Amino acid sequence: MLAAVLPQSTKTAPEPSSAYDLLITNARVVDGTGNPWFRADVAVKGGHIVRVGSVGAAEAKQVIDARGQILAPGFIDVHTHSENVYGLPEAENFVRMGVTTLVTGNCGGSAADVGAFLERIKETPLAVNLSTLVGHGTVRDKVLGTANRAPTPDELRQMESIVEQAMRDGAVGLSTGLIYVPGTYAKTDEVVALARVASRHGGVYATHMRSEGEGVFDAIRESIEIGEQAGLPVEISHFKISSKRSWGKSDETIGLVKAARARGLPVTVDQYAYTASSTSLDSRLPSWVLEGGREEGKKRLADAATRERVIKEMKESLKRGGFKDFSHAMVASYRPNPAFNGKSIAQITKETRRKSDVKNQIEQVLEMYAAGGAGMVYHSMGEPDVQAIMREPFTMIASDSGVRRFNEGVPHPRGYGNNARVLGRYVRELKLVSLEDAIRKMTSLPAQTFKLRDRGLVREGMAADLVIFDETKINDRATFEQPHQYPTGISHVIVNGQVVLTNDQLTGAKSGAALRGPGASVD
Ligand SMILES: [Zn+2]
Repeated sequence: MLAAVLPQSTKTAPEPSSAYDLLITNARVVDGTGNPWFRADVAVKGGHIVRVGSVGAAEAKQVIDARGQILAPGFIDVHTHSENVYGLPEAENFVRMGVTTLVTGNCGGSAADVGAFLERIKETPLAVNLSTLVGHGTVRDKVLGTANRAPTPDELRQMESIVEQAMRDGAVGLSTGLIYVPGTYAKTDEVVALARVASRHGGVYATHMRSEGEGVFDAIRESIEIGEQAGLPVEISHFKISSKRSWGKSDETIGLVKAARARGLPVTVDQYAYTASSTSLDSRLPSWVLEGGREEGKKRLADAATRERVIKEMKESLKRGGFKDFSHAMVASYRPNPAFNGKSIAQITKETRRKSDVKNQIEQVLEMYAAGGAGMVYHSMGEPDVQAIMREPFTMIASDSGVRRFNEGVPHPRGYGNNARVLGRYVRELKLVSLEDAIRKMTSLPAQTFKLRDRGLVREGMAADLVIFDETKINDRATFEQPHQYPTGISHVIVNGQVVLTNDQLTGAKSGAALRGPGASVD
């Protein structure tokens, strides 16, 4: 029947669609759904996947034989601090671990003008796709500076309208950093008000919670309350237990997430695959000391009685966390004296003050705070908790890293190794999760959570963000001592159909796109 309506005997030229831009043959496809791998060729044209299956002897401008290798969707890193990406547009540390999309603006800190930030990709093309949240800390700072008080109704309206504009400009949601200045000065109701605005535009609420230590249980409850009151999904960032005294209680923190999900609130979490965290040195000081900025803080610390009170509070906070001293706290980058980089506060104190008791260590911390602060790595988590969190189906893999300048400082190795470490150590060596599930946590789950609707799956019609790697060879090499080492085993990375990494070489292609959230107004 069908044949009868087709024009007969007109000799048409071969379908132009048979000439693909890129053809990847013989791969074992792990498609991002979590389903077991299957064998297929994948054809790409115009930046999209146009065929998954047996393609045969088709014409293609470029062919990659992926025999013996895994082909997966490019990894989506939902928790980055990549505001610096335009200065390092190749984003080499991310590309080399298979990451093709960065979500930035996390922990309450984002570009002040989301629209301009995303537009800039036209002038400065990037090797990766870029997406951003709008940071509550950034918005609060714009309206209230670092004031430790609630906003007036008028100030709250101003904050709401900034969030509104950011969502229209393409932010994928609202982020908070409730341990940082100025986010820490916000009460729950303020965050709920702003999350409502994000909710109206289909955004997610991503939070660096008020506590990841002894207060983590209340902090999770607060996050859930914000999601339930504002009516939007909650993403808990870098989910962890960083108080030694609470190690082993991940079943309880996971239980709170599960209970919220059972009540109908979509809560998800992300995680990096290490037992050390990384954040500022300032975050060790009581937040009331930091109010008004560093100069104000220095004035407070110049007063002997106040300084004693700070030392006492810092001692108590260490003790509450179950730590004897600051030997778990390593300097990642300290501008005034780079010789400190890679050493612990305990070591540094020994070198500079001979005596390295807790009081002297705290004095050392305060001195470094006054001199401008430092980037730090804190060895504060237990491996069993890291593993328990990784096993949960709602956990995604994210680095919490910025774009790295090769060989600068001694940053946390997660920015070089995170995805490869999960696939090498936790999938292949420890068999904690299956390859297919680990890939799902890096691809379709992030895409679903952040509503990147045409990403995260190897499927016809999806954007051609792809990674090819050898599952028997993939390994992270970055260590805490020597973090500036790229992983091994990843041979090709493709962004919007263009090859950005091939056989260990960056091609220089900058085919990344700005990915806007569902609230973006179409013009
Ligand atoms: Zn954070």
